[in-house]
Amino acid sequence: PDRASVAYFGAGPSALPTSVLETAAASLINHGNSGLSLVEQSHRSALSSKILQDARENFLKIVNASAETHTVLFMAGGGTLQFSAVVYNLFTAWALKHPDLAAKGQRGACEYLVTGGWSSKAADEAKRLVGEENVNVVLDARNYHHAGEAKKFGNIPDAGEWKGNLKAGRDSAFVYFCDNETVDGVEFTKGSPLDILGEDPDRIVVADMSSNILSRTFDASKFGIVFAGAQKNIGSAGVTIVLIRNDILTLLTSGGSLPPKLTPQIPVTPVMMHYPTISKAGSLYNTLPIFDVYIASLTMAKLLQRDPSGKTALQQQEDESNTKAATLYNVLDRYENVYHVVPAKSIRSRMNICFRIKAPGDEAKFLKGGEEIGLLGLKGHRSVGGIRISNYNAVSVESVNKLAGYLEEYAKGI
Ligand code: PLP
Repeated sequence: PDRASVAYFGAGPSALPTSVLETAAASLINHGNSGLSLVEQSHRSALSSKILQDARENFLKIVNASAETHTVLFMAGGGTLQFSAVVYNLFTAWALKHPDLAAKGQRGACEYLVTGGWSSKAADEAKRLVGEENVNVVLDARNYHHAGEAKKFGNIPDAGEWKGNLKAGRDSAFVYFCDNETVDGVEFTKGSPLDILGEDPDRIVVADMSSNILSRTFDASKFGIVFAGAQKNIGSAGVTIVLIRNDILTLLTSGGSLPPKLTPQIPVTPVMMHYPTISKAGSLYNTLPIFDVYIASLTMAKLLQRDPSGKTALQQQEDESNTKAATLYNVLDRYENVYHVVPAKSIRSRMNICFRIKAPGDEAKFLKGGEEIGLLGLKGHRSVGGIRISNYNAVSVESVNKLAGYLEEYAKGI
């Protein structure tokens, strides 16, 4: 089939705007009339610098953050590398901030809200790097499944259930959450859990926004670090965007230009994960996949082209994302005899809509019927099964409407 006749709902890598791919494709042969492909250009050439600069500026502009308060880093290694990088860097930052305590052999704790498969993986990595005793699982949402299913994700309890488990900011290296859990289809409601985590100014908040970044506004000033692999709402796989508050970078830089060995308890950061090293090099400490940065930059430039009057580009995108998600959930709820949405209503993801078809064995039939009319990428993650609709920015309203029509037809046909 040709591209125009299919709608792709894959969870990542995911759909990208056709116009972005067309521009990138031309660039793959001859970038900027240089006679060279972009993948042949030096990452230190003027053309590459311009791409990096545009990408940085586009990102800051979209999320309404300023270069005075925040730095944008482009790193390889995916979201998964950041699971490790935040631990190394922020334990180091804790020790630099509390040299008296570090000298006594302490190292603070890192704290995790575990609400789905990805935050669970991040917490496991922290346990490997600094030992289980230094990882405080503030919340394990598997204990709160709304349908009583033990040890499964699908709910996020009220803060009253877990708030008391947080340490005081001074004892905390950072607190981490995943804003949208791609596999389990749960997303924190907007502004939450920051309202709770931000109460203590000493606490550094880290968020994995890999699968919902650029789909709604957020207050960058409240986060120490936000990271997102590009391959969902920003671009292609290969780069991860890290937004880090400048005061944290400054503190880390005070430890030296290369990762320091502070005390036996504080692990030394591998240089490729050391935020000050990457920042000082303008994200070019080593060879960065500039082509992927270019795709990200083009996608962001496209987002910024939205109607400049009235609401910001990101607010407009947020409205669209909400409307598309509501269209799909409405059909699923209307035919609840046929479909079962897995997560609890209050924390359903707008990005990854996870549901089951109630009739045993009918999911393959549903998927096949969808494929026949060009609705692709709907199979749930291999770890949980079921159906998953990924409703990222590049999924058009038309595609969503077509899928909603199919959901309805399918349900009526049963
Ligand atoms: N975090 C979230 C929320 C994700 O959805 C993913 C991947 O799908 C990851 C982290 C891991 O990202 P990567 O595969 O880029 O390492």
